[in-house]
Amino acid sequence: MAGILVIAEANEGALAPISGELLGAARKLAGEGAGSVTAFIAGSEALGKELIALGADAAIVDTNPALQGALAEVYLPAVQAALQQSGADIVLMGQTALGRDLGPMLAFALGTAVSMETVDLKYAGGKLIATRACYGGNARAEVSFKNAPAIATVKAKSFDALAPDASRSGSVSTIDVAGEARVKVLGVQKAESTGIRLEDAPVVVSGGRGLGDPSGFKMLEELAALLKGATGASRAACDLGWYPPSQQVGLTGKVVSPNLYIAVAISGASQHMAGMAGSKNIVAINKDPDANMVKAAKYAIIDDYKKVVPALIEEIKKLG
Ligand SMILES: Cc1cc2nc3c(=O)[nH]c(=O)nc-3n(C[C@H](O)[C@H](O)[C@H](O)COP(=O)(O)OP(=O)(O)OC[C@H]3O[C@@H](n4cnc5c(N)ncnc54)[C@H](O)[C@@H]3O)c2cc1C
Repeated sequence: MAGILVIAEANEGALAPISGELLGAARKLAGEGAGSVTAFIAGSEALGKELIALGADAAIVDTNPALQGALAEVYLPAVQAALQQSGADIVLMGQTALGRDLGPMLAFALGTAVSMETVDLKYAGGKLIATRACYGGNARAEVSFKNAPAIATVKAKSFDALAPDASRSGSVSTIDVAGEARVKVLGVQKAESTGIRLEDAPVVVSGGRGLGDPSGFKMLEELAALLKGATGASRAACDLGWYPPSQQVGLTGKVVSPNLYIAVAISGASQHMAGMAGSKNIVAINKDPDANMVKAAKYAIIDDYKKVVPALIEEIKKLG
């Protein structure tokens, strides 16, 4: 039997955005002939119904409380049980704290392979084909799997979630399986963030090494606030200590796909592009007309950002 098993996740009782994105990916694969979509979640039956509305044909809910906030080793037997029940030969999970461990653990347990940090998926010739970065982000590789199930951990924002459709129907079944925890979590510390989350912002204003010093980010924050967006940074700017690494966009940072991405003094290295190339509209502010970011942008302003950004802020303020 073929099909896709999506390992969904919830935070504090609500579905995590990655769950909808994985279901969006799974529905695409189903449309290409990969079979039906089953979603697995630890929690309540209500979450199972939400997963059906988001595109699952069936949901398997593990009600065992030991899975709440648990590590991959506790999830492993539960996911194996769900895999057996669903008969799926493709498993999708998020490139999250859980998926990073669970993907390789499941692949090892089942004698198969996992594609980590997957950014695209297709089903062709009866096989899953996963796309992931290679050579330090300078190229992309397409990988297929020799053994079943084919497992992929998918980066956030690589796929769009479908709009929830409450009229969709599907079975929600429950299981009660949990593995043994050999590692004890002593505490969890949340990364501090204020304002809108970078990954969810409809507008992202990012700064790079060309800002010259950290004070340039104050200007970008003001512009982002006016546009009700978030501020990001290139790795070069983060490595210089000018902006927190939690705001880094790119291959080794966050993946964003806002309606508007304003790249200020960022050259557009492939590793940065890997994190924002899916943006609907890219605007580059750069002194160099030949910068890669300028080539990728829909609109470019070729000048010193110290002249351009204050002028933009002033004009936007006038609009009220
Ligand atoms: C394995 C690996 C992973 C990586 N992961 C990431 C990642 O996740 N994210 C990421 O960003 N990078 C990543 N990098 C680094 C990447 O290769 C680049 O080095 C980095 O993106 C460059 O940052 P930048 O564009 O800010 O700086 P630069 O390349 O130095 O570009 C600065 C730009 O600013 C412009 N400029 C200068 N002064 C001004 C001014 N006054 N006004 C306007 N424009 C000006 C210049 O013309 C230039 O285009 C990775 C690299 C490797 C090897």
